[in-house]
Amino acid sequence: MNNHYEVIVVGAGAMGMAAGYYLSQKGVRTLMIDAFDPPHENGSHSGDTRIIRHACGEGPEYAPLGLRSQELWDELQGKTSETLFRKTGILTFGKKGSEFVEQAIESGRRYEMDIEALSADEIMARWPGITLPGNNIGCYEPAAGVLFAGNCIRAFRRLALENGAELMTDSPVTSIDVKADSVRITARDGMFTADKLIITAGAWNKKILSDLKLDIAIQPSRRVIGWFDSDDSLYASDKFPGFICDMPDGTFYGFPSIEGAGLKVGRFDNGVDGAPEYMNREFGAYGEDEADLRYFLGEYMPQANGKLNVGKTCMFTNTPDENFVIDLHPEYGHVAIAAGFSGHGYKFSSVVGEILSDLVTEGEAGRDISSFSAGRQALHPDNIGI
Ligand SMILES: Cc1cc2nc3c(=O)[nH]c(=O)nc-3n(C[C@H](O)[C@H](O)[C@H](O)COP(=O)(O)OP(=O)(O)OC[C@H]3O[C@@H](n4cnc5c(N)ncnc54)[C@H](O)[C@@H]3O)c2cc1C
Repeated sequence: MNNHYEVIVVGAGAMGMAAGYYLSQKGVRTLMIDAFDPPHENGSHSGDTRIIRHACGEGPEYAPLGLRSQELWDELQGKTSETLFRKTGILTFGKKGSEFVEQAIESGRRYEMDIEALSADEIMARWPGITLPGNNIGCYEPAAGVLFAGNCIRAFRRLALENGAELMTDSPVTSIDVKADSVRITARDGMFTADKLIITAGAWNKKILSDLKLDIAIQPSRRVIGWFDSDDSLYASDKFPGFICDMPDGTFYGFPSIEGAGLKVGRFDNGVDGAPEYMNREFGAYGEDEADLRYFLGEYMPQANGKLNVGKTCMFTNTPDENFVIDLHPEYGHVAIAAGFSGHGYKFSSVVGEILSDLVTEGEAGRDISSFSAGRQALHPDNIGI
């Protein structure tokens, strides 16, 4: 039967395309289906670049995932001529007492990474483009840097197809029928069956999972990013790092100016929640879109507060505890889920793809993913968990 696969992947964005690639590496007959033509601008992976840190302020449970992801990105880099990663180093900084900064330092030390704790004066001396009050601290991870998100997805896509996986683009999945030991998927361009299913539909996961009797607290949320004319003698990528800034008045992140594009900055907290189909995709639709970014630049990176070159919108999919959901469906052991990446998932997409391919082929992840369980209390605030 031509329309039957061992595994179908619904949503071939950051996580799904990686899963398809790792399945194809194992010789698994795989079909990936996407509503658009990835990489694209409609989901959560748009905007060219993503930070990869291994010493994560989100908690030490992310460090092993970060380190494995980097190994996988380096391996993938060896298979493509497009640039996937640039080692710019990543600076994490914030007000003294910031749990985020302290956890990043703690994660780095616990996993024996090269990580340097810095005072505000040391940060300003090393990167004169940064202005900080004396009550700030930070840490610098030189082995971290920037992933070129579109190039990574393109590399996974090309290699997966070369390995024999199939990809159906511009064909939204409209229904999923889970049977005892198989699934039937209806997409705009056809009906398909499979032994196993992976659901990686990003901001659209809430509705899809709810249709599969899994109501979890995940919330799509609009975010903006802007590229600003900057003094490249201070902010170019050979002298300025990617950064995350955790302040009481907001959490921001950004990228050095790459090939003269200008310093890129985004606000991590404080977006507008809503379903993807109703989200306003126009940068500037809300007054704070540009104002928030300029506030950050004015305070902390004043020589990058130039003309707005480009502004874009993108979507986070947040969980209440900002931890991911990577698990088998609690009722259907042949359905794996990856959701709720809460604005910090891209860097891990390589290892998440590997985990998902292990979950559906081996029935287990091959590493500790207990923090990301679909049954944890935080995702079921109205009851005691499942
Ligand atoms: C502005 C911004 C900045 C970010 N910065 C960073 C960063 O610096 N570092 C970092 O690690 N992370 C970052 N992230 C987070 C990261 O990009 C996301 O966590 C990641 O892209 C999530 O991947 P995903 O596969 O879940 O979603 P996506 O990449 O959006 O993929 C989901 C796919 O599912 C498809 N789909 C949806 N519904 C259907 C359907 N019915 N049928 C078929 N296909 C469907 C979509 O078309 C899409 O291609 C950022 C996110 C944003 C928005």
